[in-house]
Formats: sequence, structure tokens, C-alpha cells
Amino acid sequence: MLSTRYLEGQVALVTGASRGLGRAIAQELAAQGASIAAVARSADALAATLESVRAAGGTAEAFPVDVADSAAVDAMVDQANTRFGKIDILVNNAGITRDGLLMRMKTEDWDTVINTNLKGAFHFTRPVGRLMVKQRAGRIVNISSVVGLMGNAGQANYAASKAGLIGFSKSVAREFASRGITCNVVCPGFIETDMTKGLGEELQKKLLEKIPLQRLGQPDDIAGVVAFLCSPAASYITGQIITVDGGMVM
Ligand code: NAD
Repeated sequence: MLSTRYLEGQVALVTGASRGLGRAIAQELAAQGASIAAVARSADALAATLESVRAAGGTAEAFPVDVADSAAVDAMVDQANTRFGKIDILVNNAGITRDGLLMRMKTEDWDTVINTNLKGAFHFTRPVGRLMVKQRAGRIVNISSVVGLMGNAGQANYAASKAGLIGFSKSVAREFASRGITCNVVCPGFIETDMTKGLGEELQKKLLEKIPLQRLGQPDDIAGVVAFLCSPAASYITGQIITVDGGMVM
């Protein structure tokens, strides 16, 4: 059984922590006792996340960086490690969409999505993985999407990045398992955040028809599962995909 505040004394680095799922994940990991290294492109954007974590009695610092910039990420991970002394948990959550039908998709839109969603996770996992290997412990959770499992018309770039994260995560799980590090994937379905609020009522209604649990997801639905994967209760789980989508994909 899980004790309360089962992440006491641990340090969690969460990318895309300025809003949406990343903010909820940072809040939940902090509520379980972890100190948070919160990452987004700008420090200003992270202010509300830091405030909410601190208001609840937690510790959080902002580390602004573009996840697509490999050298900047290396330097940032160094700073976070210096500030907190270690990194126990890495949540690769930062992600974007640049939707469009394939025949009209700009190469730039393909590249930006892959560089952020997939390459960004590689950029963080390499330096943080080195730290985790040295301490022979660590938890990595990558946020993919049901779109990475099913594909979606108009999202070939996004689906490729999210499917890529799954192969990446299974490889990382195999490479790092002997060092006591787990790596798992969470595939959210349709969660109400800034990323999805522009979809319109008609599309939302259609989506609801495909969701057996008959509601859209909330950021906390994802945060709780991420926290579980970082908890002692999940120490024998690695290389797995947990779909959190109200039953849409089964
Ligand atoms: P969001 O747009 O609300 O937040 C995205 C976060 O990523 C923000 O903090 C943003 O600053 C950060 N970010 C984006 N590009 C960045 C970059 N280059 N460098 C640093 N930070 C960057 O999105 P969300 O809905 O909270 O989604 C979070 C993750 O969950 C994404 O990876 C998304 O693909 C995935 N996801 C979301 C849903 C959903 O329904 N909302 C469904 C499936 C998967």
C-alpha cells in the first residue's frame, strides 16, 4: 500500500510544466513530497505553477529552456542538478501540435513537432539518464498520446512523434533496467487543456460518443497515473504503456 507523501526527499524534473497536464503533474508530484524542477520555454510562463506548488507547501524552481535545443537542455539539467543535488524523476511532457493534412503539411511543421515532442525527450533522457545511472535509481515517464497508438487524419507529424516516443521508451526501459531505472509511457486520450480547448462543441460531442466513460479527461486523471508510476508501488513496472482515455482505445 502507498504511504502518504511517498516521494518525500525526491527531485522531479517535469517538462512543459507551465500549464495543462505538466502543471497538474508538477502539483501532484509536489503533493507527494517531491521538489520540482519545472521546465517550459519561459520563466514567466512558469510563475503560476511555482506559485501553486509553493502555496501548497511544496518546493519548485523554474528552469526555462526550449526542449528542442540540445546544448541548452544539457546546461539546464546541469543547473537543476546543482540546485537540487540530484534528479530522481523525469517526466517528458512538453508537446505541441501543428496539424494539417499530409499533402499540404509544411516540412517546418513536421520538423517542429518531431523536434519538440520526440527529440525533446531524447535531449532530456540522455543527461538525466547519466545522473540516474550513477545513482542506480530513477523513474522516467514519457507522455505520448492515444494518437500515437491509433493515428489520426491531419496529425501525421504528431502521431509519428508520439509513436516514436513509445519505441524510444521501450528501448530506454531495456537499456536502463539493470541500473534500477524504470521508463514507462502514459497515453492520454482527450484531456481538457489549452491544447484541446479550440476543438469546438461539435467535435467534442463526436468524441464523447467514442468514450465509454462518457466524459472528457481532466489533467488530474493523468497526474495521478504519472505519480503512481513514480511511486514504490510501481517499482516492478517498466517498458509499459498505460492508456488513460476513459476506455476509448481498448
Ligand atoms: P499544453 O499546450 O497545455 O502545454 C504544453 C506545455 O509544453 C506547455 O507548458 C508549453 O510551454 C510546453 N512546451 C511546448 N513546447 C515547448 C518547448 N519547445 N520547450 C519547452 N516547453 C515547451 O498541452 P497539454 O494538453 O498540457 O499536453 C501536455 C502533453 O500531453 C503534450 O505532450 C501533449 O501532446 C500530451 N497529450 C495531451 C492530450 C490532451 O488531450 N490535452 C492528449 C494526449 C497527449
